[in-house]
Amino acid sequence: MIRTISALLAASGLSLASTQAGAEERPWALVLHGGAGVIERADMDADTEAAYRAALSDALALGAAMLESGAPAIDAVEAVIRIMEDEALFNAGRGAVFTSDGRIEHDASIMRASDRQAGAAAGVRGVRHLISLARAVMDESPHVMLQGAGAESFADEQGLERVEESYFFTERRWAAMERQVQSLGLPVPPRPEGAPEPEPVREGSLLEDARSHRFGTVGVVALDRTGELVAGTSTGGTTAKRWGRVGDSPVIGAGTYAGGACGVSATGTGEYFIRLSVAARICARIDLAGEDGQTAADAVIQDELTAMGGDGGVVMIHDGTPLWSFNTSGMYRASQIAGGEPVVAIFDDEG
Ligand code: ASP
Repeated sequence: MIRTISALLAASGLSLASTQAGAEERPWALVLHGGAGVIERADMDADTEAAYRAALSDALALGAAMLESGAPAIDAVEAVIRIMEDEALFNAGRGAVFTSDGRIEHDASIMRASDRQAGAAAGVRGVRHLISLARAVMDESPHVMLQGAGAESFADEQGLERVEESYFFTERRWAAMERQVQSLGLPVPPRPEGAPEPEPVREGSLLEDARSHRFGTVGVVALDRTGELVAGTSTGGTTAKRWGRVGDSPVIGAGTYAGGACGVSATGTGEYFIRLSVAARICARIDLAGEDGQTAADAVIQDELTAMGGDGGVVMIHDGTPLWSFNTSGMYRASQIAGGEPVVAIFDDEG
């Protein structure tokens, strides 16, 4: 269901900041993703597709309304990601994937282009909105990245909302993790305390999960009317991850980067994105080699990432233009510019 802007804003838990100084003239831009993967029309039923399109439209509409009214890009990125973290369809916040021992450990990061300030948190349990923790690390601490229990106590000091782990529980993600640990020959962990009674999960949705929702991270890049550019990313990581595994999403330069006129948020197999420094690499090609945004993104995703055997993609803004590149058959994505129509797309042959 498409929600009204005021309902979305209220749901994000943030208030609409007043118009910033100097926010009158310049055109804004917004792009977001909800993960990439093997997403085929034939595998997706009409209701599931409609639910994803509505969730992407809602997120886009909230960010567009904020930017149109002159809100700072940092607020728009945080609010849009908070809405997506609350949406169980995505692998971030509620709906995140489970570790092999049945826990939920979130990662997130945020970066602002003008002063290259950044904040990130990794391996965090029980914080409802990890993007707000990443922002607090940037704004309220002298550090760039906090992890685990220390990050959780910092969240408490900052008064961020804590929830029981059962808040994040979804049957579909639990079943996907069970299937994965069984295939690895590992024991199935006990169902988390407070989780609802087991319900049957449609076999088709498990296949969809194994294929299309292997990714499902959310990311947003926003350019506001003052010309400020911000990128942010939030995730539960990968299904049945082990040993405190952390992917690219909280790693500045890998999953998230903003500098100059370039801002990027990535999704895909984090191990490849970290080794290629995907987000920073795209912006560096623009800065150092003078490439345009699409050329730089395609060179890194279609050529370099693909050659390494990695899969996934990015959304980005360069010089005020939203764009994307991915080497999978689909990516949940959406974009809009000031005065333009919303674009919402899933499969690789649209948008
Ligand atoms: N990049 C994320 C990770 O590796 C996963 C994703 O994009 O869904 O943790």
